[in-house]
Amino acid sequence: MKERIDILGAGLSGLAAATILAKAGKEVHVHEIRKDSGARFDGDFQGIENWTSENDFFDEMRNWGLEPEEFKSNAFEIIDLIHPDDVITNPKSNGTAFRVVERGTDEHCIDQGFKRMAISAGANIHYEARVNPDDCDIIAAGPKDSSAIAFGEIFHTDHPNHVAFQLNDKLAPGAYSYLIIIDGVGLICTCLWRKQKKSGRYLNETIAWYESHYKLNRIPIKRVGGKGDFSLPKKYIHENKIYVGEAGGLQDFMWGFGMRYAITSGVLAAQSILKECDYEVEVKKKLVPLIKTSAINRFLMNRVGDKGFKFVAKYWMRDQEKKGEGLSFMKWVYQPGIFRKSLWPLVKLSMLRKKKLQDGRLVHRMPFRGPLKRDIWEPSVKANEIGEQWNIVRKSGAKLSFSDSDS
Ligand SMILES: Cc1cc2nc3c(=O)[nH]c(=O)nc-3n(C[C@H](O)[C@H](O)[C@H](O)COP(=O)(O)OP(=O)(O)OC[C@H]3O[C@@H](n4cnc5c(N)ncnc54)[C@H](O)[C@@H]3O)c2cc1C
Repeated sequence: MKERIDILGAGLSGLAAATILAKAGKEVHVHEIRKDSGARFDGDFQGIENWTSENDFFDEMRNWGLEPEEFKSNAFEIIDLIHPDDVITNPKSNGTAFRVVERGTDEHCIDQGFKRMAISAGANIHYEARVNPDDCDIIAAGPKDSSAIAFGEIFHTDHPNHVAFQLNDKLAPGAYSYLIIIDGVGLICTCLWRKQKKSGRYLNETIAWYESHYKLNRIPIKRVGGKGDFSLPKKYIHENKIYVGEAGGLQDFMWGFGMRYAITSGVLAAQSILKECDYEVEVKKKLVPLIKTSAINRFLMNRVGDKGFKFVAKYWMRDQEKKGEGLSFMKWVYQPGIFRKSLWPLVKLSMLRKKKLQDGRLVHRMPFRGPLKRDIWEPSVKANEIGEQWNIVRKSGAKLSFSDSDS
């Protein structure tokens, strides 16, 4: 068994693998191109879902030897679900539906919690390090291409902690927007599953929408965002390198909830190196069926606009009424039933493109879709004012850590 393990990327998947391996006594070196873990993000809130398995994800983490107490998280049982016609309903769970964590380089961020876990387990992390991927055993370098982007604004607010999730094809083409407020800091984010020239336009309009429905007293701090890379490779181990997290295309095609896949795949890669399992087999058994189902759901979502979104929102609430549990709908969404399974050949053919990546891997990748006619509309007066407000805040030194060109 190899004693020294090199990992490319000190994000969630790489650090999860590093912690497990270092705890088992391996000499672990993690090579990170950026200055610090979490530097890819800039203080944005993300949700760790609790619906792709019957087990609570934090319990799963503890069973693997990871410590969720190392970073700040806020558990939520209830959200505002905003339908495309602005009706707001409340899916709720009897347990934890998801947890909100912060991404970035501050001490309480999940990335820094994972860094502390890896270091205290004995892993060596080399920041601002550029190494040849061929010299690494695990590739955990995050997304390369864009299949979709998310763009958000972080602001001060006096609104209590809250999460709202909006299905709206105009404000978030093909996708959804969300509002997350934790301890006086808010994030309004819009996700674009269809490529647009000026994504700021969508964010301004989305902020305008939330401002007119919630008392936010918003004071902008910065704008953040990032890309998601969705693909299904033929193999997850290629030329002796194990691909984890988004570097391996392990992302949720439907909503972009990739953190759980990243951490889980990092753990599986470590266990496979320790000869406790076979990575290729485990990923294909545990994660790929969920990802395939999310791709089928994405295919269906790409075919509908707001009418379809309204149907989904109504169905979700009816399901909750029947079962007394809002999370069962989300669990069902990720379960591959016969109807959705039967669509897989069509999804593969019409939504995914075969591609040979630079490193020689063959993948079925979801390209960034082009815009539709309905994506062109005149911004509202309020959205223009919000854009102006951001220009002023930006000129006075506020950071924009993401732009159209990043995608
Ligand atoms: C705006 C936004 C919002 C999101 N919201 C959610 C959410 O709410 N819930 C959720 O579950 N997921 C969300 N995601 C997805 C989630 O962030 C990712 O799926 C997850 O971080 C992937 O983890 P990873 O380990 O693969 O990559 P990362 O955590 O990004 O880590 C990859 C690391 O590799 C480094 N790296 C890159 N190239 C190299 C190189 N050549 N050499 C060395 N190091 C390199 C990077 O700097 C980075 O530190 C969101 C993503 C974005 C962009």
